[in-house]
Amino acid sequence: MTEDHSSTTGETELLVVGAGPAGYVAAIRAAQLGVDVTLVERSGFGGTCLNHGCIPSKALIHAAEVAHEARTAHEIGVHADVSVEFGEIRRWKDRVVRRLTRGIELLCERNGVALVEGEATFEDEGTVAVRDGSDERRIGFERAVVATGSRPIELPGFAYGDGPILDARRALELEELPERLLVVGAGYIGMELSTAFAKLGARVTVVEALDGILPGYDDDLVEPVYRTAADLGIDFAFDHVAADWTETADGVATVELEPTGDRPDAGDDRLESVTADAVLVAVGREPVTDSLELENAGVDVDSNGFVETNDRLETSNERIFAVGDAAGEPLLAHAASEEGKRVAESVAAESSTGRAGVPAVVFTDPEIATVGLTADAAEAEGYDPVVGRFPLRANGRALTANASEGFVSLVADEPSGRVLGGQVVGREASELIATVSVAVANDLTVDDIVGTIQAHPTLAEAVEEAALDATGDAIHTY
Ligand code: NAD
Repeated sequence: MTEDHSSTTGETELLVVGAGPAGYVAAIRAAQLGVDVTLVERSGFGGTCLNHGCIPSKALIHAAEVAHEARTAHEIGVHADVSVEFGEIRRWKDRVVRRLTRGIELLCERNGVALVEGEATFEDEGTVAVRDGSDERRIGFERAVVATGSRPIELPGFAYGDGPILDARRALELEELPERLLVVGAGYIGMELSTAFAKLGARVTVVEALDGILPGYDDDLVEPVYRTAADLGIDFAFDHVAADWTETADGVATVELEPTGDRPDAGDDRLESVTADAVLVAVGREPVTDSLELENAGVDVDSNGFVETNDRLETSNERIFAVGDAAGEPLLAHAASEEGKRVAESVAAESSTGRAGVPAVVFTDPEIATVGLTADAAEAEGYDPVVGRFPLRANGRALTANASEGFVSLVADEPSGRVLGGQVVGREASELIATVSVAVANDLTVDDIVGTIQAHPTLAEAVEEAALDATGDAIHTY
């Protein structure tokens, strides 16, 4: 602390630390409900999601998809000569990000949220210090929300810096398309970005510690994604980890791969090293809580640094809440926003109940989207599940879009017909899951879905057909 520069102490009813999807939603919602709110952010409004994650990655994925569709359009009689100008894509992506982040700032201002730039640390149970360069001020609060998000885990020996080892943020900020890209980790980020970079023209290799892509998702959802990736020429080294790397020439990395302990035979016929112009490491994320000095406020974190919360999202200090990635799984922006909203409503003494069913989407080719329970999970919870399924190859809209890969699957409780969950793999799975989310959150039944007329020809008809299949009344399959 530099006493020369400290300014007067401010007071606020609700102090929110972090302006990502968790924090800015908490701030706006609380302000809407009449709470006096101060939102502190040290870098960009919108957090990782808007600045370095969801939004720029989806822009890149879209540009890659356009290039890929144009290149493969000859299948449907359209011939195009495609060239990818990576720098132009980047500038377009940056404009999209700027528009959205500016929008968040305006929304906060118009709702009367006081915005403070700087890095907050807790001084005690009711005060933070906010430092911005050499300026420092103290803000006293009645309640606070920790919404500081997460950052990429660093692999030992693979420090992120300005060399060829990239986290997702730097991969999304590259000036030039790397000719050869090595991706470490075949999870969400690894699969979304390896698919996009391969479509843009990079030669991509993916190394994954486990024996397949997207751990945690059922095989039948993952299989079409793996097939597309292999068709795009992506090489996979499963059951391997990136052990070490050396810089060979002008920023080019040679990465040594090692078989994992579980499968000692996995080294056979496998790559032992990969040379690449860039190495994207995407092996999970860790919370940003270490710089907050939470111990001064009596807030406990677990052994991985995630803030511990109860079902009301209160921390061990009941005046302080934690939301979003900083509070742990599922590390999804929409779950974070939902938590932010819940906390704001409880601070404003409004009744607030969590909504059921957090959807998850992987923006690969094809997309994967899930919500609620799988059949196995439903059975484990004591339901008597029935599964209705409809392949997109029997859906007119999918065929007319030349995207017939995939299916919609609905899980319902047989005796009551209640929709418990859904899994979709296919074009626009991210949009199709919305109907299933509405059903899961509102205890709708398969009959409610069947009783809704879907426009023809649309992909949404596949959800209706899956519901019909669950009741044994499918029209377009048997
Ligand atoms: P992840 O947990 O999805 O995947 C990490 C992968 O890396 C796993 O497959 C793991 O087995 C593998 N791995 C771990 N250590 C390894 C090693 N040493 N060598 C090789 N492989 C290794 O993590 P992520 O892709 O970094 O994403 C982080 C989080 O960001 C996710 O949990 C997700 O919630 C979120 N995210 C979500 C979306 C989305 O919703 N579409 C997109 C991107 C990221």
